[in-house]
Amino acid sequence: MIRTAELPDLEQIEALYANARLFMHVSGNPHQWVNGYPQREMLVEDIHRHELYVMVDGTHIYGVFMLHYGEDPTYQVIENGGWHSQGDYATIHRIAGEIGHKGILHEAVQFASSRYSYLRIDTHTNNLKMQGAVRREGFDYCGVIHLENGDPRLAYDRIPSSSSSADSTSKSRKIAVSACLAGIKCRMDGKAKPIPRICQWVESGIAVPICPEVLGGLPTPRVPSERKGNRVITREGKDVTEQFEQGADAALSICLRHGCKAAVLKAKSPSCGYALVYDGSFSRTLVIGNGVFAEKAAKAGLAMYNENNFELLGNQIERDSDA
Ligand code: SF4
Repeated sequence: MIRTAELPDLEQIEALYANARLFMHVSGNPHQWVNGYPQREMLVEDIHRHELYVMVDGTHIYGVFMLHYGEDPTYQVIENGGWHSQGDYATIHRIAGEIGHKGILHEAVQFASSRYSYLRIDTHTNNLKMQGAVRREGFDYCGVIHLENGDPRLAYDRIPSSSSSADSTSKSRKIAVSACLAGIKCRMDGKAKPIPRICQWVESGIAVPICPEVLGGLPTPRVPSERKGNRVITREGKDVTEQFEQGADAALSICLRHGCKAAVLKAKSPSCGYALVYDGSFSRTLVIGNGVFAEKAAKAGLAMYNENNFELLGNQIERDSDA
């Protein structure tokens, strides 16, 4: 059961947060919650605003989170991307659960989505566990926001799949585009390959940007990779097939949720390339084949284009969106 937290719950709540900080520290994420965050004064304020919730089993508290409805000042500016909706939203913050208790985020998201249709959340770049969990809960990566102290966080949002959503922008996003073509600096060299027309589609809500490699948890910048048979190998010989597969699955689920019927993807990429990719020798030799995501997207029935041949599709899209 989930209920609003009360002051007598503080001792159990603080113990949950202390364990969460310890877990983050030992799992390679020591910088997300520092200086005893969230401090007691912050929790007391959350309680007084009725925004702190606890998951309880009798008198035992096994999970806690803050749920805020309305504008979050740190979400007003987002870099390297954009929110998928400008509709009213609720944000889940400071979520923690008992170590070993599975499904804490799932419970919180179910609860939040039963009250608010459009949700947002953010997490630290080192919090790989949380990044995977939010994607599994149906959140899409949006870009980078900054906390009040300037620290960057990866931001995600979750648009309800129901067509009864109050948000109409999502209904018109019918084209998936490689995020790097939309000006997002997600390429292996940390740069983008923006194409003005594609950037404009994303800004106007016609297209949804996806980067399968970032969605698979790979860092930016990153070591170049190429497909070699059914595997994906970095130039240093590391097998990154699993990350490419996971990212491709996450990207495809975003496309399907948005009802995308076509994709404009970066040519020759081991994720996004369609029909021609590099052969795995890192000698810029092209062979017939598809990137990991492009292969799944084509199998799912999306019409495939790249930055060199999307003009005809572009004319059609812009005619339809003007109609
Ligand atoms: S995976 Fe696709 S979207 Fe991401 S950087 Fe590579 S080509 Fe661009």
